[in-house]
Amino acid sequence: MPELPEVETIRQDLARHILRCSIQKIIVYDRRVIRNKTLKNFTDRLMRKTIAAVHRRGKALIFELEKKFGFLVVQPMMTGQLVYSKEEFRASATKVRFQLSNGHYLHYNDSRLFGRLQMVADLSELKYFRSIGPEPLSSEFTCEGFKKSLKPRSVPIKALLMEHSFVAGIGNIYASEILFQGGIHPNRTARSLNDQEITTLYQAIIKVLKEAVRARGTSFRSYRDGHGQEGRYSKKLMVYGRERANCFSCARPINKIILRGRSTFFCPNCQK
Ligand SMILES: [Zn+2]
Repeated sequence: MPELPEVETIRQDLARHILRCSIQKIIVYDRRVIRNKTLKNFTDRLMRKTIAAVHRRGKALIFELEKKFGFLVVQPMMTGQLVYSKEEFRASATKVRFQLSNGHYLHYNDSRLFGRLQMVADLSELKYFRSIGPEPLSSEFTCEGFKKSLKPRSVPIKALLMEHSFVAGIGNIYASEILFQGGIHPNRTARSLNDQEITTLYQAIIKVLKEAVRARGTSFRSYRDGHGQEGRYSKKLMVYGRERANCFSCARPINKIILRGRSTFFCPNCQK
């Protein structure tokens, strides 16, 4: 599933190309990806509107329309992709195609229909935004606040990192990578962490996510950036997907466990 670095990469790509473009034509090949409006209402609200900004919050992309016409929210979930191109195309996974005033196209592809497109007048209409935690790469994410919300929790630290109301945008891949960088075993309960470990973990969150944004994300299964290219962070993964391979730090084998139903990778020697 695209996590913060992947969605941020798509946001940056699209923001370079589509700002101040208006939507000239919309073809919806599969209306099931439009979740909160009828097809007509969805297209009426977008047609001939100009895109003023592209934002990201957690794992959601937000296209802000000019003149307060509202927001198009795209949540790629497991399989959604947004691909910008000069040519129009129709892959079997293409569910929606937007024709823009600059002559280019924006395609929403989704092979398994896990993602969703929603039009809202205000972001607070969606539960996702009402319940979301702090953005880890923004100034609202402080070590003090992180410590305070972490300390009373008795869940495994990896599960807590993936809770979207605790901190935004971290999923299964980066939770494993962050815990490796922080030297913390994924199964430790949050409340068992001491102040030093919490500070190290806080710094690991920022470091891993920043580096992953710089590398344009991790391509695992279906993620592609705004131009349809793979991310380079796949080559920098220290533990994720490396079961039985040697740890890059201590050369002992990486372990895999299932934690709350999700594959979890760690080095039993480097992570305590
Ligand atoms: Zn190790």
